Amino acid sequence: MRVLLVEDDEQIASGVQSALKRKAYQVDWVSDGKQALNAALDNHFDLIVLDLGLPGMDGIEVLSQLRRKHNQTPVIIVSARDSTQNRIEGLNCGADDYLVKPFDLDELFARIYAIERRVGGSASNMLVLGDLSLDLSGQLAYFKGQELQLQRREFSLLKKLVENPRQVFSREQLEESLYGWTSDVGSNTIDVYVHSIRKKTYPEVIKTIRGVGYRIDPAFVLPS
Ligand code: CA
Repeated sequence: MRVLLVEDDEQIASGVQSALKRKAYQVDWVSDGKQALNAALDNHFDLIVLDLGLPGMDGIEVLSQLRRKHNQTPVIIVSARDSTQNRIEGLNCGADDYLVKPFDLDELFARIYAIERRVGGSASNMLVLGDLSLDLSGQLAYFKGQELQLQRREFSLLKKLVENPRQVFSREQLEESLYGWTSDVGSNTIDVYVHSIRKKTYPEVIKTIRGVGYRIDPAFVLPS
């Protein structure tokens, strides 16, 4: 899951960023409202964590413009503006949730999981597809009930594929979802992770679509 973190307070940003990374989220951080708007419009994010008091453009304006442009990325506002009126305004502008600063990181994660469940159409933190189940809060994956020893990025890759079981992803899309903009990714990194996940489960769990990319085993989603 790729998160756009919009926060001009460096201390908060670095705390949230490392907490998200520890939970295997890919984070891109911007500190300015205009940059945030451009980043959100030009890239695919699964979630935006949005501060309101920002240089360049207020967070409410960023959110309003995104929604006017039909961008539906889930948004959690995280702001020191704590009045009921502020919260109503934020939610009415299209935020999915509103968290008042100072906040507990565990509460932020609980709200993120709630959004992931909504997006995934599931009522629990378990994402289940065929013989695979992923525990989103514990970052654990199971195959036929057996826990898989996955590295953090292997888990993220598998999660991306399981969340979108009908979609074929190019290597570039998968790299972007795992690494964001900044990192220098080795050219066969994704193939290495795919190989490793196959070894830990079975070869066809991730199918190679020639010339296009990868998808999760279609047997999980297509009637046989
Ligand atoms: Ca701020």
